[in-house]
Amino acid sequence: MVRSEAKRDSGSAWRTVRIGLLLLVLAAVATQTWLDRVTTQSWRQTLWVGIYPLNGDGTPQAQSYVEGLTVKDFAAVETFFAREAHRYRVQPDEPVHIELYPQGSTLPPVLPADAGPVGTAWWSLKLRWFAYRASRVPGRVPARIRLFVLYHDPSTLQSVPDSHGLQKGLVGVLHVFADPTMAGSNNVVIAHELLHTVGATDKYDLTSGLPLFPGGFADPDRDPRYPQEQTEIMAGRRPISAQDAEMPRSLREVIVGPATAREIKWTRN
Ligand SMILES: [Zn+2]
Repeated sequence: MVRSEAKRDSGSAWRTVRIGLLLLVLAAVATQTWLDRVTTQSWRQTLWVGIYPLNGDGTPQAQSYVEGLTVKDFAAVETFFAREAHRYRVQPDEPVHIELYPQGSTLPPVLPADAGPVGTAWWSLKLRWFAYRASRVPGRVPARIRLFVLYHDPSTLQSVPDSHGLQKGLVGVLHVFADPTMAGSNNVVIAHELLHTVGATDKYDLTSGLPLFPGGFADPDRDPRYPQEQTEIMAGRRPISAQDAEMPRSLREVIVGPATAREIKWTRN
């Protein structure tokens, strides 16, 4: 009797330890997520962003395009953040610094099209684990924000799969075209997903793809309202009429609107 009592006691003690450990891990993840949010939204230091290029479809076209990439191909993203941050009087002069890392060999986990909330949560956990392993490059400082950019041969598909940028884990999975004429719009996709990782939300209608008024408009007070001259980055398209919008060809025609600036803590009101 005494012995079995003792056994039960040690069993429940072990269960308490296991629950305690699990709570510790969850608390550590939650603390890290909170710290990530505070540090990436403080804008006191330059944010290091890593581009991790991947051959998204296994074609020779995508492969040769990835091999030809240099960090200069992403300079427009740095310029865009510096220009827009300056407009909102945000320090420092270089809010975002882009680093290009060597091509990776493993593709990130795919989010199933029919994934519900649980499936999406599970995918985001797998993605964080993937990013942790795939972003460790010997001899290189790891980037704060990891963007895995999958290049696709445009002759094999009309449109690329949806891109995702996650604030939890500071990671993005992007699908772009392996085509020099698309380099400008690829940088629009990169800036958009990068902004998701620092807390910006989409500003377009999920069904129609059209920019939402007023947050998705670069100049909501413009009269007449259409066509807009510039694109709000989180709307992703420039409103031409109430029924039509077009994708910008480069970040030169794109701005960070007041709603997005508020979300990423560039402004307080
Ligand atoms: Zn988005």
